[in-house]
This record gives sequence, C-alpha cells and structure tokens, in this order.
Amino acid sequence: MERSTIVRVHEGLHARPATRFVKLAKGFESDVELVKDGKAVSAKSSVKLMLLAVKENQEVTVRANGADAIEAIEALIGYLENPKAGLDDEVEPHSPANDAGQETAPAPVLQSVPAVTGEANGLRGVAASEGFAIGPAFAHFPPDIAGQGRLLQADEIAGEIDRFRAAVAAVHARMDRALAQDSLSAGDRGIVAALRDIAADDSLTGEAEKAIKGGNDAVSAVITAAATIAADFSAVDDHYLNARADDVHAVGRQICLVLLGQDDVSLESIPEGAILIADDIGAWDLARAPLKRIGGVICGHGGATSHIAIIARSHGIPAVLGLGDQVNALRTARDVALDGNTGHVILDPDAATRAEYAGRVEAAAKERAGLTAFKTVTPKRADGKVIEVAANIGSLEEIEAAQEAGAMGVGLFRTELLFMRHMHLPSEDMQAETYAALAKAFAPYPVIVRTLDIGGDKPIAGIEFPDEENPFLGWRGIRMCLDRPDIFKRQLRALLRAAVHGNIKVMLPMVSDISEVTRTRALVDECAAELKAEGVAYATFDLGVMIETPAAVLIAPALAKEVAFFSIGTNDLTQYIMAADRLNPTVAKLNDVTNPAVMSAIEMTAKAGVAAGIMVGMCGEAAGRPDLIPAFIEMGLTELSMSPASIQRAKKTITAMAAGG
Ligand code: PEP
Ligand code: MG
Repeated sequence: MERSTIVRVHEGLHARPATRFVKLAKGFESDVELVKDGKAVSAKSSVKLMLLAVKENQEVTVRANGADAIEAIEALIGYLENPKAGLDDEVEPHSPANDAGQETAPAPVLQSVPAVTGEANGLRGVAASEGFAIGPAFAHFPPDIAGQGRLLQADEIAGEIDRFRAAVAAVHARMDRALAQDSLSAGDRGIVAALRDIAADDSLTGEAEKAIKGGNDAVSAVITAAATIAADFSAVDDHYLNARADDVHAVGRQICLVLLGQDDVSLESIPEGAILIADDIGAWDLARAPLKRIGGVICGHGGATSHIAIIARSHGIPAVLGLGDQVNALRTARDVALDGNTGHVILDPDAATRAEYAGRVEAAAKERAGLTAFKTVTPKRADGKVIEVAANIGSLEEIEAAQEAGAMGVGLFRTELLFMRHMHLPSEDMQAETYAALAKAFAPYPVIVRTLDIGGDKPIAGIEFPDEENPFLGWRGIRMCLDRPDIFKRQLRALLRAAVHGNIKVMLPMVSDISEVTRTRALVDECAAELKAEGVAYATFDLGVMIETPAAVLIAPALAKEVAFFSIGTNDLTQYIMAADRLNPTVAKLNDVTNPAVMSAIEMTAKAGVAAGIMVGMCGEAAGRPDLIPAFIEMGLTELSMSPASIQRAKKTITAMAAGG
C-alpha cells in the first residue's frame, strides 16, 4: 500500500524532521519505506532518510506493508503535508539551523574591523567564526584508532557482537547524560541530540554488525561502517548533509573508544586563552570542552556550516577551519595568531604581529565589555522621545543575535534570502510561518518586513528576469512585484496572516511614484477580502515605504500622506543621488552618504515625514554610524535600524547625545 504527496516540511527532511518522521514510523508495526525518484529507504532510519536528501516541495511516496499500514500512511503523509500539526509538545525549531545547528545564513558580524596585515608564516583557511585571537597553541591530535586487523574465528563472532552492542549502549547512555545536563545551551543540545540520533540509527550499527559477522573485529567494523556512511553523506549535493560526515566519524570514534576501554584525550586541561589546534574536533568533544577558556579554534577539517563553526560562533570564539594538511605545520607551534574574519593563521608570530593582534583583541574585548551595559537601555532624545534602535536581519537564524544585542524590534527584514534559498518560490504558508515567527519573537516591538526587493542583478528561481543593460535602474523591487501579482499577492497574504501574531509592519522598496503605493494598497485590500471569504485569520498592518530613490525624496510630502512611515535606505539613496554604483570600487569615493547632496536628501525626507506626523526611520548602513547618528536625530528620525553588531554602540551614542555628551 502506498501514497504520494508533496513534502511541505520547511527545508526538507533534514536532521530534526527526519528524526520526527522516524519516531512516527517506529510507532507502527508495518514495514515503512519512503520513496523518492525511484529510490526506497526504510522510514525507520534517520540516517537513510537524511541521505535520501528529500527537499521541500519534492514529491515522495510513503509505502507501508503490515497490519497497521493504513494508519502508518495516514500519519506519515499527514506529517509530510503538515509538519507542525500534533507537535505542540516539542520545541519547534525555527529552521533546520536549530535542528542540529545548521546555519545557512552568514554568521552575524559582531564587529567590522579591517583585517590584520602581517602574514609572515601565514596559512589560510575558512573564516568560520569572526574575531581575532592570539595565544599559546594547544595541539589536540588524539592518536588514530586502529582495528586489530585480524579475522575473528566463527565462535568469537557472537561475543564480539555483544561487546559491540554494549559499547553502543554505553555511548547512548553517555549522550543521554550529556543531554540531561542543564548547563548545555539550546544550540549545543541540538548538536548532541543529532549525534545521538546517528549513534542510535540502524544504519551505522547495522553496517558494523554486518562487518563483524564477516569476521572483522568490532573496532575495525565500526571504522569501516563509519567511513562508508560518511562517504555517502559527503557525496550528497547539499552542504549541510556533507557536514554530517564529520558527525558520523565522531560517533564512530566514541564507540571505538568504549570498545578499547580508552578515554578520549581530554580538552579539560586546555589553558586559559589557548588556541585549540586539531585536525578534527568532534562537535561532541567541543560542546563538552571548557569553552570559556578557549581563545580560538583552528582545524584541518570543517567549514562554515560544520558543527564546530556553529559552536564557535555561538560562543564568540574566533575560528579558522578547513586548513587541510596545512594544519600539521601547527602541531609544534608555540604561539598562534588567527583572524577569524579572513581565515588567516600565523604560527609563532613575530613581535610586531604579536603586538598588532594583541591590540586588536584587547580593543575588541574592551569595547564589547563597555557596550553590553547598553543592551537593555531604551535610548531617548533630550525631550524624552524614545528612539527605536532596531535590527536589520534576513533570516530567522539571526533573531537570537538581534535579541542578544538588545534590538528593539526589526527595522528591516530583507525577504530576499527566503526567496533565494529555495529552488522554488516560497509558498504562502511557509512565508506566513516565517513572518509570524518573527512577529512573535519581537512582540510587542514592531517587525518591519520589506516586500521582495529583487532585480536582474540577483535572479531567483521561479522568476524570469529580462536581460537588462542597467539592472539597478530596471525591473526590481516594487516594479517587479506589481507586474507579478501572483508572487506579490502570495507575500501580502502571508503578511496579513502573520500580522495576527504580533506587530508586523510592511514597507515597499524602490518606490519612485505614488501609484506604486496606491496599487499595492489595492492589492492588500484584495488579499484581505480573499482571506476573509476563505475564513482565514488575518490582521491589517501599517504600510510604509523605503526612501531610496531621488524621486521618492522629491515627492516625500505627497508620499507621506499615503503611508504610515518612511524608512530611508541610504545604501541605494546614495548610489542614486550620486549616480555612483554602490558595487563599483572605482566610484567608491562618490558613493558617500556624507556628501552634502545625500545629507540634504535625508533632511528633506525627514522634514516631509515630520510635517505629516509619520514616523521617519532609517535602515541603510548609515543608520549604525555613531558619527552620523546625532545629525539624523536632529533631523527628526526616531527609528534607526542596523546590523545587530552596531546596536549597542548606537544606543550609547544616542544616550550620550541626550545627556549633552
Ligand atoms: C538600502 O538601500 O539602504 C537598503 C537598506 O536596502 P538594501 O541595502 O537591501 O538595498
Ligand atoms: Mg535598497
């Protein structure tokens, strides 16, 4: 018996959804398989399911055979079509990023600092976690584990299988104990849980038992089985799944160590501020290590999406990964400096480099420490008016960094990433869930979602863009959306639905004519009427515009009568006012927000908004510049939205200004 469906699980059957699917499947006696493109795998193995690499919106078939086949198919198809149903008791991850620590969006930049220049004795790897570090090298190269390499006698096999099963059980128990610890952060817990799933999966244990039955000793069997499964993960066309190969090796190593009666080389003794150097560190080891003492991490393996990178980023530890064999050059280093922004590593740095790095580390730490006090500050003007300092983000994964920084809501949610991440246009449901998650996370603060701002320079799957001589002056932003109501209405409907869950506001990019606002409003009304007729819950939202074209500045007084707020997009406004491409380094000098032409355009906008009594904010890069913030506040701006890294500094600047500093 079988039934086919389209998978609606956001981002597909990655780690956590695969585990849930397996848990459901295991609740039935029937044999259950999931079939994609003619390939069938057991639905009771999360490793096999992950390796099937099922993506959102793909067609799959659930096949069941047994007494409860009908119920199994009902339940599993139900999950694939509506993954959120019936899971209220579980913590729903924002995204696969939380499933097992996957991070698809770039890491939030905590501080933008120019790269250090000295590169004597330099190596280059993947910049996996930003920041500078310099300290004593702590080389962590645990010996390779080798099997006995002898063939078992037939009468030894049953005993070896028992020994193997006991070792697997011991590893499960150890991981369960780690998961039960309160001290584990939510992110690290997700990572350990993903490793436990691999350890508990029949794929690894089944493969190993097969090898033992073939006469291999248990350690050799585990090494071979882990290598086979890791190779499968490496072969899949998906960065996230590729990184799971390291997890399989890590789990295999833990089982081998129990079999050998050995403890892994401990990271417990790492000295304060040391730079951990390894060919590979299991996420399992790193998550348990004294992370506060680790100054930096350098690894031969790993990349920006590996678990080590995610742990390092979430704990603010600078890291350079993926050095390959070059890492061996560091085995005997006494001191190491690393630049997690560029991926540079310097072994035994000379005095000048040492001083340069030490200066950077100290300056960053001092600034961070001094600014954290501003996280909870509500900055006000001298007259008591609150200035909202909000975050610019582009994915749900960035919510935590924004909240950690003290963001008073989101002043710009760039929805492009949502559209670019997928092979298809995102569904209304998926968009509604994303916007609702944002609204809930920041309520009662507002979340300003910008409607799709995409153009010929950044094509996305599902939209045909014409060839254009000047894409920046072409079919982008609101122009494209109004020509494609099928795409635009889906986003507007999703926003109306999400507005039920918090304080959603919507703004339009690239506006240059009032009719773009009135036509959008008509579409919003149409969407609201449709939702009403369908009996779907929705709420209205404030509609605003970005001011980023000279035309919008010049018609600002008229525009202000049509909208609830302005948000000045200085990145585009500067390039259009100065007629200087924001991506062209040859005209970078002209692309300057402080040019009087741009500053007076900002002032004209502010005046028009203030006169009409609407909020005027800014979400271009300039909003986070401490040297310009006082001028913007003087002009009447009451909201500034910026990268989370700039928030505390901006709050400090505004507070100092109010105090007359
Ligand atoms: C801007 O143009 O200032 C802006 C915030 O939008 P983006 O950088 O996404 O074009
Ligand atoms: Mg812009």
